[in-house]
Amino acid sequence: MTTTFESEPGRLFIGGQWLEATDGARVDVIDPSTGQVVTTVAEAGAVDVDAAVRAAREAFDNGAWSGLSGRERGRVLHRVAELIRENADDIAALESRDVGKPITLAHAVDVTNAANDYEYYASLAWSLDGSARDVPLNRLAYTKRGAIGVIAAITPFNFPLILAGSKIAPALAAGNTIVHKPAEETPLSALYMAGLLKEAGVPDGVFNVVTGTGPVAGEALLRNPGVDKIAFTGSTATGRHAASVAGEGLKQVTMELGGNAAHLVFEDADIEKAIGAIIKGFVFNTGQFCMGGPRLLVARSVYETVVGILADAVPGVPIGDPRQPETVIGPMAGERHLKKVEEYVELARKEGGRIVCGGERLDLNGGYYYKPTVIADLTNDSRVVQEEVFGPVLTVQPFDSEDEAVELANSTPYGLASGIQTTNLTRAHRVADRLQAGIVWINDWPMLDPAVPFGGVKASGFGREYGPEALESYTKVKSVVVSLD
Ligand code: NAD
Repeated sequence: MTTTFESEPGRLFIGGQWLEATDGARVDVIDPSTGQVVTTVAEAGAVDVDAAVRAAREAFDNGAWSGLSGRERGRVLHRVAELIRENADDIAALESRDVGKPITLAHAVDVTNAANDYEYYASLAWSLDGSARDVPLNRLAYTKRGAIGVIAAITPFNFPLILAGSKIAPALAAGNTIVHKPAEETPLSALYMAGLLKEAGVPDGVFNVVTGTGPVAGEALLRNPGVDKIAFTGSTATGRHAASVAGEGLKQVTMELGGNAAHLVFEDADIEKAIGAIIKGFVFNTGQFCMGGPRLLVARSVYETVVGILADAVPGVPIGDPRQPETVIGPMAGERHLKKVEEYVELARKEGGRIVCGGERLDLNGGYYYKPTVIADLTNDSRVVQEEVFGPVLTVQPFDSEDEAVELANSTPYGLASGIQTTNLTRAHRVADRLQAGIVWINDWPMLDPAVPFGGVKASGFGREYGPEALESYTKVKSVVVSLD
């Protein structure tokens, strides 16, 4: 069953109204599987962003949302989860068209996780409790948790629905109001969700969407004095800038930034099982996955065996039209991403890398396809190893000891995720402890759930999404001390 509500008209959503940009500007949205324009959306300028922040401020101050109890907000968020599930086919089709995601994965991963996000925080909204504190001098002290105010949510192109939900659901559960700026390339599910949230009962002005570019709409949002917190997901370069602007304005921030995770395969790993996780870890979402595992580190004794299995298995992973249910790898989300991957693979060739498979575009329907690529024998200082390629590219390096494996794994500026393949339980826990990463998967890749916090260390950022940790990050604590004399 699908519900009919006003959605995806390609206009800005401000104060509960669908509006054109003040200057009438619009921008094309491209289907990455064909390179053709599918629709256009309004391109917000600074004036529009300011209107959205004012609407969010007014809605926060009037208490129509922030004044509800947590459990009342939770009921609305439960309805959001239901509506996502009722409209799963439409949402998956939209996300697939916008990002080039294989339709089966858009359903199983993006839509399912988004619904789970809202359901999870709907439940946690019941537990926004303070606590009593034991204090001397005949006083009673207690704490209360309240919303922060207006949240600027800025999200990247690769998981538009999920990464918006991981901010919007906890921020709304805590009673905040929001201005969401999705990535310019993939704005469609954000607009759809605006209609869906309204239908579920989120009051006007509580959730606003401004589609537009980073340098104009994003920058205006970062600098707007009406914003209380910046929840940013994107590249490390933009995150550094966003954090410094937030610092000037003394705004709270969470920064979910780039990644370049290592996947360690020890000689005692169950290689047959590990291969599935290794391949998933670098082809999932066409490698446009901050928590993907693009750096494979393999014990020297099994190095050539693993490379040989990958050479046979990887070319067989179904790549092609994302609308076909059997497709596992779709196109890159945009031409600039495709070109970036091409440049990195050329660089790897120059750096002495052995192309085990792939290493070229796939010519199909004018789309932005790149064959899944495995590159062996690069040295650790190679740029392709050290930098975030963000495409379906796996580098493979050997190691001779556990210490060397850990040293190589921790040797890039990033620290978002990491993985270990071993059947030795003691080693698994010991190495997990030593890896500089916000999440470590053991004999698995990648399992994400709203109950499990994720986020980075080092250049991958700070703050956590998911879990009660995320809900807390959208609240502020007030202490009350009462004299009992
Ligand atoms: P990006 O940094 O180019 O853009 C992210 C968002 O920031 C977009 O909405 C963009 O319009 C906006 N933006 C750009 N310039 C801005 C400015 N001056 N002011 C304000 N906003 C601005 O990132 P991207 O290419 O869209 O996404 C890919 C990156 O995101 C990768 O580095 C990936 O690792 C990272 N990522 C991280 C996580 C995580 O959870 N840590 C999740 C997904 C993606």
